[in-house]
Amino acid sequence: MVLNRRDDATKRLLDIADKYKGDGVVKKEEDLEWRSWPVVKRIEHAMVKGIDTFVEADTEEARQQCARPIQVIEGPLMEGMNVVGDLFGEGKMFLPQVVKSARVMKKAVALLIPYIEAEKSGGARSNGKILMATVKGDVHDIGKNIVGVVLQCNNFEVVDIGVMVPASKIIETAKNENVDVIGLSGLITPSLDEMVHMAKEMERLGFEIPLMIGGATTSKAHTAVKIEQHYHSPTVWVKDASRAVGVAQNLISDEYKVQFVKDLRAEYVKVREAHAGRRAQIKWLTLEAARANKNRLDWSDYTPPAPKQLGVQVFDDMPLEFLKPYIDWTPFFYTWELKGVYPRIFDDVHKGEEAKKLFADAKRMLAQIIDEHWLKARAVVGLFPANSVNDDDIEIFTDDSRKKVRLTLHHLRQQTERPPGKPNRCLADFVAPKATGLHDYVGSFVTIIEGAEEKAAEFEKAHDDYNAIMVKALADRLAEAFAEHMHDRVRHLNWGFEVGDWSPRSGLEAKGFDSEKLIREDYTGIRPAPGYPACPDHTEKSYIWELLDAEKASGAILTESYAMHPAAAVSGWYFSHPQASYF
Ligand code: SAH
Repeated sequence: MVLNRRDDATKRLLDIADKYKGDGVVKKEEDLEWRSWPVVKRIEHAMVKGIDTFVEADTEEARQQCARPIQVIEGPLMEGMNVVGDLFGEGKMFLPQVVKSARVMKKAVALLIPYIEAEKSGGARSNGKILMATVKGDVHDIGKNIVGVVLQCNNFEVVDIGVMVPASKIIETAKNENVDVIGLSGLITPSLDEMVHMAKEMERLGFEIPLMIGGATTSKAHTAVKIEQHYHSPTVWVKDASRAVGVAQNLISDEYKVQFVKDLRAEYVKVREAHAGRRAQIKWLTLEAARANKNRLDWSDYTPPAPKQLGVQVFDDMPLEFLKPYIDWTPFFYTWELKGVYPRIFDDVHKGEEAKKLFADAKRMLAQIIDEHWLKARAVVGLFPANSVNDDDIEIFTDDSRKKVRLTLHHLRQQTERPPGKPNRCLADFVAPKATGLHDYVGSFVTIIEGAEEKAAEFEKAHDDYNAIMVKALADRLAEAFAEHMHDRVRHLNWGFEVGDWSPRSGLEAKGFDSEKLIREDYTGIRPAPGYPACPDHTEKSYIWELLDAEKASGAILTESYAMHPAAAVSGWYFSHPQASYF
């Protein structure tokens, strides 16, 4: 059409236009042949394919045909779930499909429960009962919820007691509910210590229940080195949802448990030895020696960029439309256990198709989130006069006269021996030392996405884990995109050292906007986040909150472990020096 190369171009376009109506995705003729099958087969099919359109009617029909309502669960629903479980276990099915199948199951079970209770026949026999909790001080639960769904799909009974759960409550619930396994989840590094505490408490109270450990910062090494020794019963690190079922089955089985635990213990001994070997090779410097090898920037020929706008700025309701172009989709697929780089993941022979479907669902929900204003984006940013002092600290002044120190940030310096010519770095190295007399500045920011937890709860109430997980995963993406957007804004407008036009709509107006470049963080300056390697101490986050009066400005709070609530939140520091880098 555009190139006007053929006379029949208009006709040809009209011929194919019909196929692309609506959201532009070519629709396959929906094959409804299976609707003519016997009801038991239909339910199985719906389970395996994750189709929830007809589940209520089919379940009701099956219930009327069965002698007892429980038979619907034990028959077609379990048959279907077993197929899904097997395919997932063999890597032939992916997590989003499993979660969709679970939705069919949950909707069917919800319909049957009143009949089962009326009959007082008790529920279906489960494989075992598993308690799941996100530990004290931590608010993150996408991973925990996914594992819960996958376990339920495999006929485990899951008792999920939510987030920020103190050890005493986990222990009490485990006893009252007489569970077979306790699964602990957490995302931020302080949760690792809380898990160690849990293991010690369970030992102290004479527990025998096996422990499963999972979450982003957990690892086999951490579980083997720091947790396992404190508890005499099996303590197993679970890499991801696809492994959870195998581990749980082994821990509960009379037949396999002994060998499983024996192998596990032997493996963890090796992990500990390897870890100790690596540690022994690390040479530690004294703090003085590390400081003597600091990252010496040349301040003699340098003028720090002076902000155009000092102080704090609050954004109460940033249009989500402006954040969309800043989204980094790769971690979204990671959340759903489809590992691969966006958009190349769509070409992957195994998971490409599933990734496309998941992305279509995500785009559809994102459009709804934006149109119907499900979520609210709030941010607070600030730039402050600052200089480094005593090598590792940064003083923040009340104003640019620099007479009065408002507060002092404490940064950690790398203290292991570095290869020749490489410095022992500390974030304070990137800020002009007070002795130079230079007027330098640092910034801080908090970005949050509000409302995802409430929306997810609505979906959960409707037995829809798929969309509950989806809305939280998208809120996380938007919070990260918001951090990117605000950093872009601050570099251009508040600090002003980034040249070129910028408006909040920059991402929407394609000119000069390069989202891949932003995702690569290919620009001047950094935004290190407390809890990450360059500034691992989470307690420093309280200074961000203080400087920005962030609780009042954004509504975000810090838990006792310095996790941010709501969970879809990002915070950190801004440094402007061209040589500033992560380490
Ligand atoms: N595009 C990603 C987010 C960026 S992850 C997403 O959408 O999820 C990279 C961020 O992690 C950096 O901007 C910084 O805030 C933090 N980070 C990474 N490495 C770090 C380090 N070594 N020290 C401190 N912060 C770090």
